[in-house]
Amino acid sequence: MASSRGRSKSGGGGEAAETARRLAASGVEAVALAIVINSGVTLVKTIPLRRFEEAARFGIGLSPVFTVFQVDDQITSSPHIGGPAGDTRLMPDPAQTIGLAASPGWALAPVDQLDQEGDPYPGCPRTFARTMLERLAGHGLELRGGFEIEFFLGHRATPGPDEADPTPAHTGPAYGAIALADVEPFATALIGAFEAQGTGVMQFHPEYSTGQLELSVPHGVGIAAADTHLVVRHTIRAVARTHDYTASFAPVVFAGRVGNGNHLHLSLWDRKGKNLFQGGRGPEGMTRDAEAFTAGVLEALPALTAITAPSVPSYERLQPHRWSGPWACWGRENREAALRFVTGMVGSRPEAANLEVKSMDPAANPYLALGAIVAAGIDGLDRELSLPQPVADDPASIPARTRRSLGVSRLPDSLSAAIRELEKSSMLREAMGDVLFDSFLATRRAERDVFEDQDPEDVVRVHRWRY
Ligand code: GLU
Ligand code: MG
Repeated sequence: MASSRGRSKSGGGGEAAETARRLAASGVEAVALAIVINSGVTLVKTIPLRRFEEAARFGIGLSPVFTVFQVDDQITSSPHIGGPAGDTRLMPDPAQTIGLAASPGWALAPVDQLDQEGDPYPGCPRTFARTMLERLAGHGLELRGGFEIEFFLGHRATPGPDEADPTPAHTGPAYGAIALADVEPFATALIGAFEAQGTGVMQFHPEYSTGQLELSVPHGVGIAAADTHLVVRHTIRAVARTHDYTASFAPVVFAGRVGNGNHLHLSLWDRKGKNLFQGGRGPEGMTRDAEAFTAGVLEALPALTAITAPSVPSYERLQPHRWSGPWACWGRENREAALRFVTGMVGSRPEAANLEVKSMDPAANPYLALGAIVAAGIDGLDRELSLPQPVADDPASIPARTRRSLGVSRLPDSLSAAIRELEKSSMLREAMGDVLFDSFLATRRAERDVFEDQDPEDVVRVHRWRY
């Protein structure tokens, strides 16, 4: 991977000391160093705050074998990774470490992985995302983005081999005031926690599916978009726990029902601070750069699907007529298109115009997804790609022949099919580097082999509480 240097060789001590002081002043006693591995599962190692500065210099150990862990905690191997030997260092990012209002005494630190020589570990998803964002900065562009997270809230049955389905916290109506009333104390605490810890809330509402809720937070600049996502999930889990609920971020919580999306909204900003998704001469008011970036993402969508919908049950969700974006096309405010172009209301467009990548669920590693989408966008910029005509209708309602002539097709409809598309992508292999690309693929193949032929009900159950 054409990677950026890690921070360890310079130490980064001053910033870590200042962060430790700030956290101590707000009552933090322990820090969870959080990493999302290739399986989409978030892991933590925790330290007392007293050790934060030392951890920022020398890291906390984690075996490289976690790079090839599967969602079910089985371990596979890849050409570069496997076996018990070796160590990587989890390096907390002081600037992105925040005290968690819903977890009194705790802070959460996103991490980069380094090797023991202080060089970037080539299997690190966050380093990959940062490297792609640096490449984008080389084009004079800054990304602002945020994940819009849907989740299930309910009462979990006693865990065990015959665990029953959870009881939902609400049973609708979809988007309904009754559903809100059912979860109001939870919602008050949730919004309060986000506002108190500085994450903020843009919107919260009951969603379509039973027990489903949605929360969106203000955008972050660059890597903060993905870092904030970790904080968002942890905060939702913590508030759920204090209200005797459990939250599920599985792509699908009940087989056959509408699933949880994890759409990424992104915009590109130039050095003058202008949002390039508006005020241009391109389609729907995009600038040329925004168009080329979007066209790069559009072209790569089939290969990106293994990263944005990475689990076997992801394909229970990625179906037509669920607003999950299963069609490889773009359109203004088209909720069936994988790329929904959001212009915002007249007057708000300089701030609000953005691209929404809908073909993503919460099994996706936010760092891999962000990095891969940016890599695809940069490919579009480098090749000066143009967009085809936007699609205004539901692609399912367009006659198949017309749809083909418009170049609109379904995204992969299984993990197997998505893996085949990713395998073909030399663009993503180059961007991710062999170690990350091969280890990610190894974990996808392993999960496909375990789960793809199983009964969907069983698959959904096994994945329900893993993300
Ligand atoms: N639940 C839908 C999904 O799986 C998204 C609904 C919406 O557009 O908010 O992506
Ligand atoms: Mg939604």
